Amino acid sequence: MGVKVAKFGGSSVADVIQIKKMKEIIQGDPDIRYVIVSAPGKRFDEDNKITDLLYLCHTHKEHKLPYEQLLQVVHDRFTVTAVNLGATVDFSQDFDDIKDALEKGCSSDYMASRGEYLNAKLIAAYLGFDFVDSAQLIVFDEKGKLLDEETNEALSSELKKHDYAVIPGFYGTVKGGDDIKTFTRGGSDITGSIVARAVDADVYENWTDVSGFLMADPRIVDNPKPIHEISYKELRELSYMGASVLHEDAIHPARIANIPINIKNTNFPNDPGTVIKAHHEDKEYNDIITGIAGKKDFTVIAIYKNMMVRERGYVRRILGILEDFDCNFEHIPSGIDTVSVVVSNKDLDGRLDELMEAFTKQLEPDNIECFENMSLIATVGYGMNRRKGVAAKLLSALADADINLRMIEQGSSEINIIVGVENKDFEPAIRAIYNAFA
Ligand code: ASP
Repeated sequence: MGVKVAKFGGSSVADVIQIKKMKEIIQGDPDIRYVIVSAPGKRFDEDNKITDLLYLCHTHKEHKLPYEQLLQVVHDRFTVTAVNLGATVDFSQDFDDIKDALEKGCSSDYMASRGEYLNAKLIAAYLGFDFVDSAQLIVFDEKGKLLDEETNEALSSELKKHDYAVIPGFYGTVKGGDDIKTFTRGGSDITGSIVARAVDADVYENWTDVSGFLMADPRIVDNPKPIHEISYKELRELSYMGASVLHEDAIHPARIANIPINIKNTNFPNDPGTVIKAHHEDKEYNDIITGIAGKKDFTVIAIYKNMMVRERGYVRRILGILEDFDCNFEHIPSGIDTVSVVVSNKDLDGRLDELMEAFTKQLEPDNIECFENMSLIATVGYGMNRRKGVAAKLLSALADADINLRMIEQGSSEINIIVGVENKDFEPAIRAIYNAFA
């Protein structure tokens, strides 16, 4: 018998109808032995996610505003779902505990984690699976960094004792205490991935409300083709695209254990979805590109200094200044005497003038220029590797669409080409590249 880990996101457990679909999926596949759940998500557009309500309760308490009614909404939602599912769980003690904790000034992480905790209890009772709490098994250090190895050991030895279990996503505890710590939003995807690693699963199924990834953003390109298979590495390169479907940090645990991740749609369980797995050198690629993704609002700062190429440590100093500003760089395209740094406006956080001044003072460049309102677009695919004319095709597609290319970079692995265009050209550029290759 195989072992599958299946994570069901907020929309897949939002109400009784969705939870019944989930049960059908699980009962149809006895290999699904470990189930990770998010807190219930929105049932309709104007609805609230349970996690958001819990954060709101915490904020109300902090500001000495009444929170009881809000908490009652959460309580009622769980109780009504349990009754309608015919699951025997009594949440009264849990809600007393939550209220108690709030009164004693619990953290917002603790509060938010209760959505997953209560939901996992409910789903375990409904499925007849064991409930295994992730507190104590998923361990963080004091700075909030996941302790991979300790977590892996704790989870794997505990889960050996359970043939079928439901585990709440999103949280663990800080080492050496009982303080609950959550991942960033959407973090149940990460729990699923670390559980998959801990039980050495054959596959990690991530059930959501879309049938996997598309080759491009459907808000920009009409009916983009689905991606049936993508390597971990390609997906990293396309990280601008993936974030809304799968949490970025969910790839790493599955990747190191070489476990494929299958994104599946709870509403269309027969759709194959997208499989994310390791790249095989001898794989034949019919398609040149796997996907295109991009993001707006970057600033490019181009630094020119005569004979820069001979000056040791110049780039290190540039990066040192960025570090002082606590600013990440996206790319650093360079020429013989020029280096450009591409930083997101979000990271710059209104400090462009200050940063320019620091560069000018500390680097004494001959010239320094900045270009705001830039977009980056990554075109990614192992199919481009060792294939001639790919960049030429991409560039002529942009030229034919009358788009001015401001920057281009190709990684030496030859699986990505990144272009920089002005924000106003972002959507037309993505469409032009898609139409040239798809
Ligand atoms: N419930 C949490 C959130 O809304 C975590 C998750 O769903 O993965 O972000």
